[in-house]
Amino acid sequence: MAQGKLIDGKAFAADLRAKIAVEVAELKAKHGITPGLAVVLVGEDPASQVYVRNKGEQTLAAGMHSETVRLPAEVSQDDLLAVVARLNADPKIHGVLVQFPVPDHISQMDVVAALSPDKDVDGLTVTNAGRLASGLPALTPCTPLGCMMLLKDVVGDLTGKNAVVIGRSNLMGKPMAQMLLAADCTVTIAHSRSKDLPGIVRQADIVVAAVGRAEMVKADWIKPGATVIDVGITRYPARDPEAAAAGKTRLVGDVAFDEVRAVAGAITPVPGGVGPMTIACLLANTVTAAKRLSGIA
Ligand code: NAP
Repeated sequence: MAQGKLIDGKAFAADLRAKIAVEVAELKAKHGITPGLAVVLVGEDPASQVYVRNKGEQTLAAGMHSETVRLPAEVSQDDLLAVVARLNADPKIHGVLVQFPVPDHISQMDVVAALSPDKDVDGLTVTNAGRLASGLPALTPCTPLGCMMLLKDVVGDLTGKNAVVIGRSNLMGKPMAQMLLAADCTVTIAHSRSKDLPGIVRQADIVVAAVGRAEMVKADWIKPGATVIDVGITRYPARDPEAAAAGKTRLVGDVAFDEVRAVAGAITPVPGGVGPMTIACLLANTVTAAKRLSGIA
């Protein structure tokens, strides 16, 4: 059976991190600047703790300055916003990220609004979203940025391609669509109210699935040869009963991988596709922010 090319996000991300480390070393040597990333974690959500630890470790591995601020789940919104304000003003810090979700008594919108747009390395502020939509230099959300890097690598010139993005969140679907539009694709955004989703997806040369519904996208939705980027993550207990009993999970994407790979020209796996790109792009955004804040770029 024919098999689409496997897009190895893990290898691409490792290569990107190595390039970032070289750039960081140059910034230090030529300009005396060490890019710094601060990550704020509220509470003890296990998945968030893993993400935050990985971010800190990879920031240090790239030669950058890393600060992790851990706050108790009961912290007041005012106290959290005071931490954000301190980091906004700290010259050692060029990127500030508050790990979401935050507890219910804290407004995610208020937290995003408190971030300095110049240090908003997750690209979530209205300023950065507006800059992206207006074609101005912006800090853009890390996961769609990673998807774009993979797409440009595997497809090359995206001009005129029909791209369908499934999902319209501020973090993923909308910025993804803006980036594809900026690359001269013809873009359709589909969502939970879209009619005939399979028919829409069948038109696509490029499919980006960012929904969070395991194996929703089937082989007969895919135009032969299309490039499929699977962003979705659903966690299930590990297959091995002992591992499952120990709380281990496995990740499943939005795309029915085996059957879709038989039709697609190229496809990202889950895990090992888009996921590793997110932190690498966070580091890239922090370097970009450091250069802009220092007047180098
Ligand atoms: P989200 O905010 O929950 O958005 C999901 C989107 O999917 C919404 O726009 C929703 O439409 C749409 N949707 C839901 N059911 C649908 C259906 N049956 N048909 C078509 N569209 C449907 O999630 P998100 O933050 O964008 O994340 C999406 C997925 O990507 C999640 O699984 C998340 O874990 C994953 N993710 C992965 C990474 C990574 O590093 N790999 C990073 C970010 C996110 P409506 O707007 O109409 O409700």
